[in-house]
Order: sequence, then C-alpha cells, then structure tokens
Amino acid sequence: MLSVDGLTKRFGGFTAVNQVSFEVGEGEILGLIGPNGSGKSTTFNLIAGTLTPTAGSVRFQGREIGGLKPNLVCRAGIARTFQIPRPFTRLKLLENVALAAYYGAGERIGRSEAWSRAEDALALVQLPVDGETTIDGLGAAGLKKLELARALATRPRVLLADESLGGLDESEMDQAADMLEHIRRQRGITIVWVEHIMGVLMRVVDRCVVLDHGEVIAEGLPQVVASDRKVVEVYLGGDAGEVQAQVAARARSETGAGGTS
Ligand code: ADP
Ligand code: MG
Repeated sequence: MLSVDGLTKRFGGFTAVNQVSFEVGEGEILGLIGPNGSGKSTTFNLIAGTLTPTAGSVRFQGREIGGLKPNLVCRAGIARTFQIPRPFTRLKLLENVALAAYYGAGERIGRSEAWSRAEDALALVQLPVDGETTIDGLGAAGLKKLELARALATRPRVLLADESLGGLDESEMDQAADMLEHIRRQRGITIVWVEHIMGVLMRVVDRCVVLDHGEVIAEGLPQVVASDRKVVEVYLGGDAGEVQAQVAARARSETGAGGTS
C-alpha cells in the first residue's frame, strides 16, 4: 500500500531522517516508534507532502508521491493527523470536519455529501454529530478524536496518526488504541501510527519500525522489537520489562481467545 525507500531529510547540515525504508501492507497497523526527536513526525511530513524529501522515494499504491503537495497527497488517499491539533476554533465541531471532507475528498463532492461524511466520521470517533457542539471544552482526548475525524472524513486508504496518545491519561490511552483498531477493522483503513510511548501501542500494532536519530534501528513483530537488544539499550531502558509484559499479555489473550493474528 505504502512504501518508503531511502527516505532522507536534511535541514541545513542536520540530517533528521536518514535512509529510512519500510513498507506498509494493505489493512496493516504499523507502529512507527522512537524517542523524542528521532524523526517520526518528519517522516510523516515527508509522506504527507508537508516537507519535500532531500532524497529517497515514497510510493503509494505503486505511484511515486514524494514531493507532491499535501492537498494532493490527501486527495490521493493518504490522510494525516497532527501531533498538535489546530482546529478552526470559531467553527463548530461538525463544521471543522465537514471542511476536511469537502476539500480533502478524492473526488468533487457537494455540500450535503460533505456534511454526511463529517457526521459519519464524528460517529466513528464517538464525538457528537449534531451541528451545534463547539470545540471549546473538548479536552485533550476530544481534540485528538477531532483530529482523527478530520482525517477520516476525507475517506483515506491510509491514515497517518501522529502521537494520538499525547496528553491523555491511562484510560484515555487505552480508548485511543482501541479506537484505531476499531477504525481499521470497520473501514479497512491502513494505519501508520507514530508514538513515542511504546506500551499501549504494542497491544494493537501488527508490526513496528523503530527510529533513533533518524535511522531505523529495528523492525518487526512487537514481541521481537520489544526484546531487541538495541531497542532496549537506546530506547526502552528501564521500561523494557513493562513493555515486554504488555506484549506478553497480548500474546496470552490472543492465544486464549483463539486469536488469528
Ligand atoms: P519526533 O517526531 O520523532 O519527535 P521530529 O521528526 O519532529 O521528531 O524531529 C526530528 C529532528 O529534526 C529533531 O531534532 C528536530 O529538532 C529536527 N527538526 C524537525 N523539523 C525541523 C525543521 N523544520 N528544521 C530544523 N530541524 C527540524
Ligand atoms: Mg513528533
């Protein structure tokens, strides 16, 4: 569905993303993880067109999209959320999402279709679909859901979710993780999920790519990555035990439930 090959971004003399390559299969949830400043958001920005690659390629369904403008990437079928939500504060919740649907859709749609896609996206993230709710008082979790709704309203094939857990408490994090899983299951949307917190994410993702200083240092199944020597050394440190326990709990529950993944 999406493949990144030798992706590199330099800011002056500083290389933020260095020769990053990975593939994402259709319907997969890929976790893109790594410490703060490791190049996760920059990688997203290179895929989404917010930044132009210094080198390397981004292919979506076989077509090169590296360097394409963000609006065109979105209309091609890749939607992204932003780490820091910036909604239109004077517009209603539904209006925010309807705008995304109207301008981000891959085809020309009318106003009523935009409204109905907005309602559908808000329902999917469990936010109110009435036209009256304002965005004041949404809170961190609500704003993250609004980001998701705006992305989903464009009807993407691929969703790039940046730090969906930032600023959330423990139970909100669990809910956010379940929501991404639900979106994948319900809509068959392929998801790349960026996060610097590894724990909750490990319950949901099929595979992980781990970045450090702009480079891929590990890649594979959650259970493999969580006990990778390099990942433990540069990234997990003292949290390694906890993350490994999360992965083990998931493996147990999947076996217990006769899970297929
Ligand atoms: P992450 O999302 O993994 O926390 P980022 O991709 O945001 O990390 O940043 C990776 C590195 O690139 C950081 O050192 C950051 O300061 C730097 N960086 C990001 N964007 C720019 C920019 N526009 N100009 C210069 N440096 C940048
Ligand atoms: Mg980031």
